[in-house]
Amino acid sequence: MKYVISEMMEELIKLDAMEWGGYAFYHEPLERKFTEEQKKVYIRKANACGEQEAEELLKEYPDTGIKALAEDMGFTVKMPKTPAGGGHVIFAQYVEPKEITVFTDCVEKAEKLIKKEHLTSLLEGIDLTEVLLAHELFHGIEYRKRKEIFTQTEKIQLWKRPFSNRSRILCLSEMAAMAFAKKMTGIHCSPYILDVLLMYAYNEEAAEALYEEILEAAGIREREEEC
Ligand SMILES: [Zn+2]
Repeated sequence: MKYVISEMMEELIKLDAMEWGGYAFYHEPLERKFTEEQKKVYIRKANACGEQEAEELLKEYPDTGIKALAEDMGFTVKMPKTPAGGGHVIFAQYVEPKEITVFTDCVEKAEKLIKKEHLTSLLEGIDLTEVLLAHELFHGIEYRKRKEIFTQTEKIQLWKRPFSNRSRILCLSEMAAMAFAKKMTGIHCSPYILDVLLMYAYNEEAAEALYEEILEAAGIREREEEC
């Protein structure tokens, strides 16, 4: 084991939206099409999009849990223990047009981990289910607003001839969904940290590899290497 989970969480909590944006673009298939400056503009816009959607909803639904809120909006919220058929680990999902699912097994495992590793104060006020639900709810809102919302309408032209081909930029949705979930739940750090926490509950080595990848993508070198 290279890292202690509490150390990883402490480091990840420090990352800002711009650094998480670097991680989001790290997995973007069209990443090479953008300059660093263009990426920064996209990161700001995607975050602003998610925050704005959250602000509008919070005005309409003050003090409402995400599940009740989503159901009131006409979404179906499912909370089975694990995905049917097993397969690879998945924490939550949205299925068009209106189905939001959080798999409770991963939440239970992560909550046990939080207690066991004394992460309670570090992750204070973070309700994992609420954060996961809020993230998926954003994808549902995106679908409903697909003709107008920034994350869906923003496209880049891949080629012009013989037919114009314009493609969506997938990482914009993810960044906006995280910004939305952060604002909706009022948590103090980026929900992106849950990628590592939830993964760790299943596979410690995979979580460590992900952690290293995040630091690299965020442009942060390991401290040890600097000494
Ligand atoms: Zn997502």
